[in-house]
Amino acid sequence: MPRILLLLPTTTYRTEAFVAAAQRMDVDVTIGSERPNALARLNPTAFLTLSFHDPQQTARQVVDFAAAHPIDAVVAVDDQVTLAAAAICQALSLPQNSVESVLASGNKHRMRQLFQRAGVPSPGFRLCRLNDDTEALAGQLHYPSVVKPLGLSGSQGVIRVDDAPEFVRTVERLTRILQAENEKEKAESRTSLAETVSAFRLAEQGDQQLSLPSHYLVEDYVAGPEVALEGLLSRGELRVLALFDKPDPLDGPFFEETIYVTPSRLHTVVQEQIACCTSQAVRALGLSEGPIHAELRLGHDGPYVIEVNARSIGGQCSRVLSFGTGVTLEELIIAHALDGDFEPPLRERRPAGVMMIPIRRAGRLSAVHGLDEAENVTGIEQVAISTHVGQELVPLPEGSGYLGFIFAKGASAEAVEAALREAHARLDFVIEPCDSQTQPANTKLEEGRSET
Ligand code: ADP
Ligand code: CA
Repeated sequence: MPRILLLLPTTTYRTEAFVAAAQRMDVDVTIGSERPNALARLNPTAFLTLSFHDPQQTARQVVDFAAAHPIDAVVAVDDQVTLAAAAICQALSLPQNSVESVLASGNKHRMRQLFQRAGVPSPGFRLCRLNDDTEALAGQLHYPSVVKPLGLSGSQGVIRVDDAPEFVRTVERLTRILQAENEKEKAESRTSLAETVSAFRLAEQGDQQLSLPSHYLVEDYVAGPEVALEGLLSRGELRVLALFDKPDPLDGPFFEETIYVTPSRLHTVVQEQIACCTSQAVRALGLSEGPIHAELRLGHDGPYVIEVNARSIGGQCSRVLSFGTGVTLEELIIAHALDGDFEPPLRERRPAGVMMIPIRRAGRLSAVHGLDEAENVTGIEQVAISTHVGQELVPLPEGSGYLGFIFAKGASAEAVEAALREAHARLDFVIEPCDSQTQPANTKLEEGRSET
């Protein structure tokens, strides 16, 4: 039986989906994670404790393990471990994205540079330091712009600014966000991608100039609708698995993800332009194997690439996709990792969608009402609440994450979107202020009405 090494970051919504996929596929699984597993003594080949913050050390650990228990493929579950996966595959001579390409897709500045060099349509940008003279800088920029950190995700810290005074305030806000993230990571002894990338760069090249937490980007704001492309790379060739429309306007100042619907309602010519642009972007980064998740905006003169991540769709959203006769995205990713010639079956034809339920108020979740009512909406497959009562909620741009996910299928993309909106409107999240916060008690989220 082939053996895969599944790399699990400590924080991910996706463990279950990948473990279940591996079980269905009759492959032996070794789980690589940073925390020692209590069951490891009973089944030492099933768990491997790795130090993801040091990809080269991780690679050595895996090479030692693989001498006794050969590993046929490495699957990275989420951003934080893609670099470790690349380093391991390099050491084991398994086909994978190069370390350089993964470093580039984890650093928004490097990504922009490579896009610019290769002529990939993407926003104009400027690299800045948090301790630059912001007032002086504010006078040199043009507006609207987008301020964004280099190494965070989920739109955390990404803020649109419309004029100079707003820019100055926003950089102060971003500074606080980055400081808080840094402290949180230390407290949770979590390894962020930013930290891993920095550590890796230092070890590899002694390059200390660009530190992800002390720099940020200012980008030209690209107005227009946004799409997400889910793809699979095989020897650098892109296969589009699904193209999602994001029907909620993403005009800022913060950019919360909400609804994704596939198939796209865009004209096929535009869909082809999007695929073509994404292929160009993938080539510019040098990515070659495995899943990618790309985001593009449709500007007045065509698609612009916002980013390409070397991973599949985040959160629990992959549940919305099914291929052939009920094959999951995770099964498809594992099958491709084991066999580069694997031909993925087409997505099942039924329109489908997911809504990431955004956190709109800060506070502590004290109750969730309307779950049955939401699940009873025609077309709704499931409402999965991923937060728990008592949990502290932090909205964008300081926070990241969602209250949960709503899944729908329907006869048309329009019907799917309508079902998601209706289900969302029936949910009622009761949020109370935390001690440190100042909202009135029992503020309800005004879900899905004026705001979405
Ligand atoms: P993250 O990795 O945190 O998701 P992104 O760079 O993808 O960061 O930005 C998050 C969202 O912010 C995008 O999906 C998009 O809606 C918006 N955004 C980012 N950059 C731009 C830009 N230059 N112009 C317009 N919108 C942008
Ligand atoms: Ca993004």
